[in-house]
Amino acid sequence: MHAISAETRATVDEVLDYARRRAVYEDVPLDKPLTPRDLSRLASGSITADGIGARRATALFENVLAPACVTTDHPAYLSFIPSAPTKAAIAFDLVVSASSVYGGSWMEGSGAVFAENEVLHWLAAEFGLPAGAGGVFMQGGTIGNLSALVTARDAARRRNRELGRPDPARWVVVGSAEAHSSIASAAAVMDVDVAKVPTGDDGRLHGDALAPVLDAHGDAVFAVVATAGTTNFGIVDDIASIADVTSERGVWLHVDGAYGLAAMLVERMRPAFAGVERADSLIVDPHKWLFAPFDACALLYREPDKALLAHTQHAEYLDTLTGSADWNPSDLGIQLTRRARGLPLWFSLATHGTEMYRSAIAYGIDLAREIADEIGARPGLSLVRDPQLSVVVFRRDGWTLADYAAWSDRLLEDQQGFVVPSSHRGEPVLRFAIISPLTTFELLTGILDTLV
Ligand SMILES: *Cc1c(COP(=O)(O)O)cnc(C)c1O
Repeated sequence: MHAISAETRATVDEVLDYARRRAVYEDVPLDKPLTPRDLSRLASGSITADGIGARRATALFENVLAPACVTTDHPAYLSFIPSAPTKAAIAFDLVVSASSVYGGSWMEGSGAVFAENEVLHWLAAEFGLPAGAGGVFMQGGTIGNLSALVTARDAARRRNRELGRPDPARWVVVGSAEAHSSIASAAAVMDVDVAKVPTGDDGRLHGDALAPVLDAHGDAVFAVVATAGTTNFGIVDDIASIADVTSERGVWLHVDGAYGLAAMLVERMRPAFAGVERADSLIVDPHKWLFAPFDACALLYREPDKALLAHTQHAEYLDTLTGSADWNPSDLGIQLTRRARGLPLWFSLATHGTEMYRSAIAYGIDLAREIADEIGARPGLSLVRDPQLSVVVFRRDGWTLADYAAWSDRLLEDQQGFVVPSSHRGEPVLRFAIISPLTTFELLTGILDTLV
């Protein structure tokens, strides 16, 4: 037995007491960034030879460092894609740390991996993937997209080997002009080219626009990326028509649903995602619209064996793992050591049940519709397009980017909201991204009232 000293116990108590205070504090401020200069003045000197002790370090974080971080799950945080983890998921995140689970292999983490797989299989069924589908929780959508595309290219290379065909001089991944920036980032890491297909007037990628681009690039194309909810507008591509084109040509279909695919959990939204069930791989980020803490991306494959071939790392010290038929999450993406980052979502889903999730997502969609109607009715404001999911993009007539920026700074300074300007086809616009069930119509109209 290892004796745990009184000092160590006091440290754990100090930290857990703070975590408890923070987790159940009802009036967490929005907070705002400080300058490097201010933070140097207020917070430097914490790393010393003998340590400053848990009490002082906790106080420094609680009183200085934490307030210099914008609260991403605040109901008035409406920029980028906000977060809104359930308290159950937040609390269980502490357990994941306390338990020192290694989530990379079945041998070391079978219980945790089993629970994560319960969630992944539930998601796969919701998205209509077949029974053999499986995957892994990755760090985020960027790494999830990269891992899926690496698998897709590996599968294309193997097929060329089998057919005795040479690989192309340059591989090409195809997506819409509205695809997320992480696709270009993945292409840069993989040293492949990106072919962009123009979207229709509805902002969606359609199969008929995709087909000629695939024909032009021929066998060089190893994957097509459909976006299930663009980050800027929440637009869902016409996935069924895209799947018709990819399946006809035997090209890998990846669906990037980091933000929007969660909306498929709402029954009446399912038709908008028709075709997802034909994806070879897909992602959805629990840290976005599935109410889990940072950071987690659920990456799913129709045929996980293809991911094992692409990603399993081989080394003498790993032989005992890689030689087995166990389900080893590390082998499905770009990682080795792995936090069991799906467990907070597992615990919260197990605790609350799936219905609560469906209604919390539906709430955001309904609220987006209501505030869009309100914007359309207010003189001086106009919608840029009708919301499809929970993102509302609009303009304040006559304002320049500088006007928007000054307004946005003031809104945060007053701690009323975090709404940064975005842009659409070169025009500066405003954007409400709604995730939190605590965001209300009144909160949003209060922000609209300041746009004078
Ligand atoms: C947010 C987002 C990503 C990137 O996910 P991260 O978790 O931020 O890495 C990729 N694609 C889409 C559509 C997104 O909205």
